Amino acid sequence: MALPKFSNQKNKMPRRPTTTNTSSTAMDVTPPAPPPPQIDVFWDEGMLAHDPGQGVFDTGHDPGFLEVLERHPENPDRVKNMFMPDIVCIPIFSEYIEELVKADATGGKPLCSGTFLNPGSWAAALLAAGTTLSAMKHILNTKGKLAYALVRPPGHHAQPTQADGYCFLNNAGLAVQLGLNSGCAKIAVIDIDVHYGNGTAEGFYKSDDVLTISLHMNHGSWGPSHPQSGSIDELGEGRGFGFNLNVPLPNGTGDLGYEYAMTELVVPAVRKFKPELLVFVIGQDSSAFDPNGRQCLTMAGYREIGRLIRKLADDHAEGRLLIVQEGGYHITYSAYCLHATLEGVLSLPNPLLEDPIAYYPEDEAFSFKVVDSIKQYWQETVPFLKE
Ligand SMILES: [Zn+2]
Repeated sequence: MALPKFSNQKNKMPRRPTTTNTSSTAMDVTPPAPPPPQIDVFWDEGMLAHDPGQGVFDTGHDPGFLEVLERHPENPDRVKNMFMPDIVCIPIFSEYIEELVKADATGGKPLCSGTFLNPGSWAAALLAAGTTLSAMKHILNTKGKLAYALVRPPGHHAQPTQADGYCFLNNAGLAVQLGLNSGCAKIAVIDIDVHYGNGTAEGFYKSDDVLTISLHMNHGSWGPSHPQSGSIDELGEGRGFGFNLNVPLPNGTGDLGYEYAMTELVVPAVRKFKPELLVFVIGQDSSAFDPNGRQCLTMAGYREIGRLIRKLADDHAEGRLLIVQEGGYHITYSAYCLHATLEGVLSLPNPLLEDPIAYYPEDEAFSFKVVDSIKQYWQETVPFLKE
């Protein structure tokens, strides 16, 4: 596969031009400029090897009359566009990944609706999980506080014993478990992919060490691989009751609705939970142009969410923030929305990229009303939020 854009990046550490200006002499009186804000990105091009197939959108089905079959939406072009060559790349702990690859299992069959394990997929899935673990380890080992795992295949629908929704291994969930195993007492996961992070919820459903919050389109269950509905009453079980918080937003919710949900629901819940580390699960399929979503976030909305998450991490988790890539299927706009999200996370004073296509006259009244009703429900039902 010819990938000149990527081929020089793996295990190398290219620098932004602004970071290379380190020369100084004894005559200099100007103090050195502070280093530019930075996110450490974890990536391995082996993840491009997962071919999810083609057909009618994500079905893998060839109806016989179409001249051109469509590529599956979770195809490698998505993350090729998300990779930014001026970002500092961190070499992956290859021994860790090799250890995972040794546990290889072969496949070559549909696992559930829309989810196809083809030759190369399993190794890519192991790399995605290992890459996310490496990013978490980077934070746990205090090598950096802000890490982004640019991974595919995605993970947040993968449940402990069930592939689902293009996902094989729950990358973020495994990283959370690593954090707990490494002595983190409490971790909060905030998932803004347009779909319910049901796999992550399932993995920690009986735990009060992990607060999982998912903001998603009100899409409900989609079949046997996805029995969870994402409704507000899926709150966790036993010790974990109240520590899975679902925010099903009405279809069409845009920037103002998401910002309201963040400030009224997510920020207060995380404040009360007091995590030691934050995991921000991002999907650009909540954007106004995604083929797999019906929400209407634009770059401005993603930027604001990124800013709020960073502030939460700074205020409550000593700035420790792991960002994990999930969905996002519009090949171009997903990359722009990722960029905007990271601008927000880096607290940049001004956007570096203009939004090339956003136009959405949002009517936020209904989403505000839904958020208000969820807030009231939480205050009446969730023990740690009652006050
Ligand atoms: Zn999604």
